[in-house]
Amino acid sequence: MKTVDNYNFKDKKALVRVDFNVPLDADYNITDDTRMRAALPTINKILNDGGAVILMSHLGRPKDINEEKYSLKHLVNHLSNELKTPVKFASDCIGVEAKNAGLSLKMGEVLLLENLRFHKQETAGTESFAQELASLGDVYVNDAFGTAHRAHASTTIVAKFFPNDKVFGYVMANELASIDKVLNDSEKPLTAIMGGAKVSGKILIIEKLMDKIDNLIIGGGMAYTFAKAQGGKIGSSLVEDDKQELALRILADAKSKGVKIYLPVDTIVAEAFANDAKKLTVDIKAIPDGYMGLDIGPETEKIFAEVIANSKTVLWNGPMGVFEMSNFEHGTKAVAEAIVVATKKGAYSLIGGGDSVAAINKYNLADDVSYVSTGGGALLEYIESGSLPGVEAIKA
Ligand code: AMP
Repeated sequence: MKTVDNYNFKDKKALVRVDFNVPLDADYNITDDTRMRAALPTINKILNDGGAVILMSHLGRPKDINEEKYSLKHLVNHLSNELKTPVKFASDCIGVEAKNAGLSLKMGEVLLLENLRFHKQETAGTESFAQELASLGDVYVNDAFGTAHRAHASTTIVAKFFPNDKVFGYVMANELASIDKVLNDSEKPLTAIMGGAKVSGKILIIEKLMDKIDNLIIGGGMAYTFAKAQGGKIGSSLVEDDKQELALRILADAKSKGVKIYLPVDTIVAEAFANDAKKLTVDIKAIPDGYMGLDIGPETEKIFAEVIANSKTVLWNGPMGVFEMSNFEHGTKAVAEAIVVATKKGAYSLIGGGDSVAAINKYNLADDVSYVSTGGGALLEYIESGSLPGVEAIKA
């Protein structure tokens, strides 16, 4: 893998695609700077080599150019503090302003360009726009795993203008190493834990994983489609009726491939989709009318926790219930804690996909697992298709 470690940045201006798509509050304060902090090692490596850094990123989904709330200028102070060096800012990512800022940049300095998505050409992947970006730097570094599944100008197209000078940053390299470890170099047993709302969102990844895993744990909203397909009564739980056949096919496929499937046996149900709704613990296949399943039950927790704790590799995507509500978070928390137990016993654990990352952070367990992926969509797509446009562009 070509990474920043294989490149000497001395006297080079590095054009670095980062993922600074951070949440901002109404006063433009950064409410979670995880993504910015993740990019610091790559930036510091370039500076320590004696190079200069030109950072480019998107922020949100602006509809118009220069929409105040999507301006990257709100990040300048925080980034300067983190890097302990003043960061310069160009109020456009292309054109005269960017060109001049790039030209006057000295080695050891950092420049942040304005939001790439203020130009439609970014997401369209327009070659001339990518070429303008490319003209600012001597070497291209992609450290934005979260957008690596998009063939955008700054994530993919720009790489062709640096045939011999393009490398992965540390975020990218770590993400790729982590998922490759799980998919292609894992210690067995390998357990995948799938949760979240719907079967339909997870079907491709489940099919792909089936050839690699030993155990498949299924929880969350999608478990009720399986329960119904197996003849259970699921009350008013979340269900995708048109996916029942698919659910049975997954079960048959697992059987023929020797993959053990663990579905919930009991569930916490509630009268309404509300934290204070009256709740009961019942058999997942005998949910009373008027009740909906919002979490896995205590018996299921025990079964899942044991499988997880005895695994040598664990991949977790998606919560076991509506973990955003305190009365229905117990199952998700139990799974997170079981992953920590497995990790302490030497297992490799990868947490990926927006809501399981949110969960592991909520329980302050991110430091107790092996790796927490920063790119939900990109990770899932990488597992599904085995490659990503942004990754292939560097390798090419
Ligand atoms: P996903 O984006 O597909 O991973 O889904 C995550 C969402 O699924 C979270 O917001 C959970 O609240 C939700 N979820 C998990 N279990 C259930 C359930 N039993 N019923 C409804 N929503 C659920």
